Amino acid sequence: MTVYNGKGVYSSVAIGKASVFKRRSASVPMLKIDDPAKEIERVENAKALAVEQLTAIHGKALKEVGETNAEIFEIHIMMLDDEDYNDSIRSIIENQGVNAEYAVSVTSDNFSEMFASMDDAYMQARAADVRDISNRLIACMTEGSAESGSSDEKVIVCADDLAPSETVSLDKDKVLAFVTAYGSSNSHTAILARNMNIPAIIGVGEEFLKNISDGDLMIVDGHTGEVFVSPDDETLKRLEEKQAEDIKKKQLLQELKGKENVTLDGTEVKIYANIGGVGSIGSVLANDAGGIGLFRSEFLYLESDNYPTEEQQFIAYRKVLESMVGKKVIIRTLDIGADKQIDYFDLEKEENPALGFRAIRICLTRPEIFKTQLRALFRASAFGDLGIMFPMITSVSEVESCLKMCDEVKKELAEDGINFNEDTEIGIMIETPAAAVISDKLAPLVDFFSVGTNDLTQYTLACDRQNAKLESFVDTHHEAVLRLIELSAKNAHENGAWIGICGELAADLTLTETFLRMGIDELSVSPPYVLPLREKVRSLRLK
Ligand code: PEP
Ligand code: MG
Repeated sequence: MTVYNGKGVYSSVAIGKASVFKRRSASVPMLKIDDPAKEIERVENAKALAVEQLTAIHGKALKEVGETNAEIFEIHIMMLDDEDYNDSIRSIIENQGVNAEYAVSVTSDNFSEMFASMDDAYMQARAADVRDISNRLIACMTEGSAESGSSDEKVIVCADDLAPSETVSLDKDKVLAFVTAYGSSNSHTAILARNMNIPAIIGVGEEFLKNISDGDLMIVDGHTGEVFVSPDDETLKRLEEKQAEDIKKKQLLQELKGKENVTLDGTEVKIYANIGGVGSIGSVLANDAGGIGLFRSEFLYLESDNYPTEEQQFIAYRKVLESMVGKKVIIRTLDIGADKQIDYFDLEKEENPALGFRAIRICLTRPEIFKTQLRALFRASAFGDLGIMFPMITSVSEVESCLKMCDEVKKELAEDGINFNEDTEIGIMIETPAAAVISDKLAPLVDFFSVGTNDLTQYTLACDRQNAKLESFVDTHHEAVLRLIELSAKNAHENGAWIGICGELAADLTLTETFLRMGIDELSVSPPYVLPLREKVRSLRLK
C-alpha cells in the first residue's frame, strides 16, 4: 500500500480503480513550411472550430454547474481572441517558417510559464487555462476535435492537473473521484469539482503519477486528503466503514427534505440559505432551503469589470426570484469596502478599512450607484417574494435615507408604468453594536432585522475579522454578542418586526437552542448546513 497526501476538495470517500487521464500527445513536431499564409489560415479555422466546441461545453456547464462556474469557458473563448496570444502564433509562423501546431505549442509554453511565474495565486492558476486552449487549438488542427473518448467503467481519474474544460467534459456518471498531482484550491478546476460534487483531491505530488497505473485499486478520502493505492485489507475495511457512514449520514439528512423546521414542542423556525450568486441556486434547492436569507449582491459587482447596469442586475435578481418560485429571497444591497475591494470603484486606501468607507456609507454617498441597484431590485420584485436589506447600519438617519431612496425609486417606476411589488419587505442588517443598542428605534422603521454575526462580533470585540493573529481572542460565543442579539430580538418583536441571523453563527449547532429561546424567527446558512440545522432544530425541546 502507498499513501499520498493532498488537499481534499470535496469531503467524501471513493473506492475504485484508477484510470490515468490520457491527454493528446504533448509533443508537437516542428515542420518547416513554405506557405505561412496557409498555416495562419489553418489557425483561424481551428479557432472557429474551438469556439464552436467551447460554446457547446459552456452550455453543458451552465446546466451542470451554474453560470458563475461556466463563465470560465466564455473566458477561454475570449483568450482565443487575445491579441498578444495571436500575434505570438503568427510571428512564430512567419519569422521561423514553421507549422501552425508548433507555433501554438511554443506560444502555449511561453504564456503559461509567464502566468506560472506570477506572484498572484489566481494568475498562476491561469497557466492551466492557456495550456487548455492551446491543446484544444492543436487538436482542432490535427484531428478536428478536442474531446477525448471515455471508458464505460466507473473510475477514479488520475491526472497531472485537469483543465477546466477537461473537468467539465468528464462524464459525471462514470467518474467516482479525481486525483491530481498538481493544482491549487484557487483553480477553477477545484471550484468546478466542488460544485459538481465529485470527490476530489488535488496536489498529491508528481511521485503519485509515476507510480499509478490503469486498474490499480485506490481509495480517495476527501475528508483527510489521503489517497491510498493498493490498500491493505485493514485500510480497505476502515475506509469502507467510513464511506458507509458518510452515505448513511447523507441519506438520513435526505429524509429531512420536505419536513418542517419545528422543535419537539412545536416552536417553528425558518431555515434559509446564503448565496453569493445565481450559480448557487441549485444547491439551495437541492438542500431544501425555505428561502434565501442573504444574497450577497456585491458578488455581481466583484465579478464584473465595470458597474453592472440596471438591466444586468435586474436579470440576475429576477432569475433568483423565479428559480425560488414564490419563496422568500432577501437581497442585500451592495456591501463593498473593507475586505471586498473593487478597482473600478476607485476607493482610497484607508488606515482602518473595516471602520471605513464601506457598504451603505458608499451607497448613500454615491446615490447614482444605489439608485441603479434599487431600480433593478424593485423591478425584480414583481417576479417573486423579494426582501431588500441594507448593510452596516448604525443610525436612524441612515435608515431614513435608504427608505427615502426606495420611495423615490418606486415613484419613478410607477410613473414609467413599470410593475413592482408595493409590499416588498425592507430590512436592515444588525451588524454594528450601535444598531443593536438602538434597535428599539430602528425596528419601527423596517419589516425585519437580519443579524450579521460576522461583523457584529468583529465590532463588539474590537477584533479585525481578517486578522488571523486574533483568532485566540475571538470568543464567538461572547456574552456581549449574544446579549446584543437578544436585545435586537426583543426590540424587533415589540415593534412588529421579525428577526433572522445570517452570519456564520447561524450554522453553529451549539447555539441553535439559545437562538430559538431568544425567539429568532429565521436562520440563514450555507446550503450544505440547511439539513444538519433542520435535524438539530427537530431534536430540541424548549419547554
Ligand atoms: C455578517 O457580517 O455576518 C454578514 C453576514 O455579512 P458579511 O459576512 O458579508 O460581511
Ligand atoms: Mg457583514
